Amino acid sequence: MDERRPLAEDSLTAISDLEALRAYIGDCQRCPLARTRTTLVFGVGDPHARLMFIGEAPGRNEDLQGEPFVGAAGQLLDELLASIGLVRSQVYIANVLKCRPPGNRDPLPEEIESCTPFLAEQVRLIDPVVIATLGNFATKYILATERGITGLRGRLFRIDGRLVMPIFHPAAALYSPDKREVLFEDFARLRRVLERTPETAAVVGSSTAGPAVEGADEECASESRHGPSVEQQTLF
Ligand code: SF4
Repeated sequence: MDERRPLAEDSLTAISDLEALRAYIGDCQRCPLARTRTTLVFGVGDPHARLMFIGEAPGRNEDLQGEPFVGAAGQLLDELLASIGLVRSQVYIANVLKCRPPGNRDPLPEEIESCTPFLAEQVRLIDPVVIATLGNFATKYILATERGITGLRGRLFRIDGRLVMPIFHPAAALYSPDKREVLFEDFARLRRVLERTPETAAVVGSSTAGPAVEGADEECASESRHGPSVEQQTLF
């Protein structure tokens, strides 16, 4: 395991559902973003979703409304979901940081370290089969890699029984028709992965996983033949 990754905290692992986790986080003051945020943005969606999206941090609209992906990037995310027959209430959406960095600057390492134990607990409680990381920060955190999103997007990784697909952040595609096209292609692939994948992460991670995950296994295997492998890490 990457030593930079915050381990689950004893006080958190006793929490048994998202509501209790939200109550535990309360009016969090763990990092300086507490002083500049308007609203802590916890996450939204199906608490038992098979597909979880992880973005970077709340932006201005999210900070004001308390919900992730509510601005133009959120509208594009809704379009992308619709393109694979899904709506927000069928997935779960969260961010690496729960509070907005001022001016939408990049998250700082110490902010990520302070906040990600909450994200790790959300993943544990939701127990998604597939995680789609949106953009660089979520991808680097989940895959514990320094490699950028451009080289990783659309590829499939297996992390402790879950399948992880990095994709571009919708905000990056708002003014780039090329990236927009790539995003729709990656969502189509996400749908194929979901269709082939068993219902639970435990089944995906077992040695008896059937034909439903063959395609994903092949792609993970092919990843390991090209450069440094980031598969098979235990993050949660
Ligand atoms: S970003 Fe995370 S750790 Fe920092 S104040 Fe907000 S909830 Fe707490």
